[in-house]
Amino acid sequence: MKKQHLLAPGPTPIPSEALLAMARPILYHRSPAYEALFAHVREGLKSLFRTEHEVLMFTASGTGAMEAAVVNTLSPGDRALVVVGGKFGERWAELCQAYGVEVIPVEIEWGKALRPEQVTSALEQDPSIKAVFVTHSETSTGVLHDVRALAEVVKEKEALLIVDAITSLGVTEVETDAWGLDIVVAGSQKALMIPPGLAFCAVSKKTWAAVGRSKLPRFYFDFQATKKSQEKNQSPFTPAVSLVAALKEALDLIQAEGLEKVIARHKRLSRATLAGVEALGLEPFAERPSPAVTAVKAPEGIAPKEIVKAMRTKYGITIAGGQGKLKDTIFRIAHLGYADESDVILVLSTLERILSELGYPAKLGEGVRAAQEIFLKSEG
Ligand SMILES: *Cc1c(COP(=O)(O)O)cnc(C)c1O
Repeated sequence: MKKQHLLAPGPTPIPSEALLAMARPILYHRSPAYEALFAHVREGLKSLFRTEHEVLMFTASGTGAMEAAVVNTLSPGDRALVVVGGKFGERWAELCQAYGVEVIPVEIEWGKALRPEQVTSALEQDPSIKAVFVTHSETSTGVLHDVRALAEVVKEKEALLIVDAITSLGVTEVETDAWGLDIVVAGSQKALMIPPGLAFCAVSKKTWAAVGRSKLPRFYFDFQATKKSQEKNQSPFTPAVSLVAALKEALDLIQAEGLEKVIARHKRLSRATLAGVEALGLEPFAERPSPAVTAVKAPEGIAPKEIVKAMRTKYGITIAGGQGKLKDTIFRIAHLGYADESDVILVLSTLERILSELGYPAKLGEGVRAAQEIFLKSEG
């Protein structure tokens, strides 16, 4: 028997409250019971996204909401600035290109963090830019870009700021209204602690004006139709009813812990993981680490996929390797959503064993000790 532990950056583990909600008999979606459930979820989403505006919900993985953000705001031939510093930044660029939007990339070396001046100068050179797309927590490199600082420079301009917050919402501060973010995209299988299948867009007032002007084709992901239905606690098409039932439980758990405490917990897990790998002599990959996931450079002579494979096959622990061009460089330990200190201790102690088995001179206990010291000093 091998107990399974999921420490990948999505899907993430699901708390029993959410699992049990999905086991209950399904509700008819055109019924008062579903409408009451969805009304509760709509309020919970607003408080999680820190917005007083409607948060639109789609039945899709996170990329569906990314696509919705593009097709509801832009027109063919529009120009968009896209921050590209990893796989998910590339996805924004590919999505825009698929719809005939001209992409002006702001290239960042993978692992490095955006300097907001890079965006300011690009916007000043080309005032016709309609939108700036950014990935808040770039899951592929483990970098958290400074969206708050970026929002400061974009909010003076006409352009919309469209943020992939798929691994930052419920992990770190995402102040939709206070920072002036125009669209904030999230997905269900990351810090929302439920299975894949729901995706979200928080939409600002400034964005709604752009929606009226935008001419890209859309049907399933239409913002206006979705908003109109949601205001009646409905959706234009059959919603993923059981996922919505699970979402209610997850939002209630976040509310019960308190969003500030949820964010503090993720910070603590991230700091302990970073301290642990550094104590083992390994180097974190991200210049500005995301509290959702710790990307670590594999030591000289050991392929990251060997570490990932040993974790899974010998110890039942799922972590992630590198994506794209980072495949042979890094492995990634996630600590988002339904994650706590015991997960960090488990993964670090197992990493020590695996590294020793692979012939790397790791001192057993050193990584765990560094993490414990962080936990001792920052009681949850
Ligand atoms: C997981 C993830 C996505 C969405 O991917 P889906 O597979 O469509 O859910 C997008 N952006 C980031 C940063 C992610 O971590």
